[in-house]
Amino acid sequence: MPTVKAVFLDRDGTLIYEKPGRYLRYPRQVKLYKTAPAALKIFKKLGYEIFIVSNQSGIGRGYFTAEETDKVHNHLQKMLGPCRAREIVYCPHAPSENCACRKPKTLLGQNLVKKYNIDISRSFVIGDKKSDIDFGNALGARGILVRTANGNAQIKKYGAQIKAAKVTNNLLGAAAYIKGLS
Ligand SMILES: [Mg+2]
Ligand SMILES: [Zn+2]
Repeated sequence: MPTVKAVFLDRDGTLIYEKPGRYLRYPRQVKLYKTAPAALKIFKKLGYEIFIVSNQSGIGRGYFTAEETDKVHNHLQKMLGPCRAREIVYCPHAPSENCACRKPKTLLGQNLVKKYNIDISRSFVIGDKKSDIDFGNALGARGILVRTANGNAQIKKYGAQIKAAKVTNNLLGAAAYIKGLS
């Protein structure tokens, strides 16, 4: 029986700032949302394993390398300290490669579910795009859309097509929502 419950966090625009049109390449460009550490603390306290699942098509497009991305993630984990993610996974492919791991495709999530024996029905996906919510629903988790970064524009663009369990202002709002359910 799977016993682990998890939150799968999108990285850019959900956990850390995203600058439109700019690909994040270097550790010094990583800026956590102010409310993120408090949110992660709540997830930990509620007993959730934290995973980061990210599309990094900049690798496939040739803007930066997987090695640079790994350095960014090592730095991000250091910044998160005791609230660090259990694992950070990412899709390195360009959309044109039609891979099985770019969100909303579920491969990255499925791999984590297997590896950590996750109870997906008790788990959440949090992100700022419809593709994050679609990814969550396809996995069998509940999706929470945050209004940070692309969030509001995605709501304008897709409206009710976004099948989120909840829309919140930011990651801390998502944590408060999950806390309220327990
Ligand atoms: Mg995002
Ligand atoms: Zn991929």
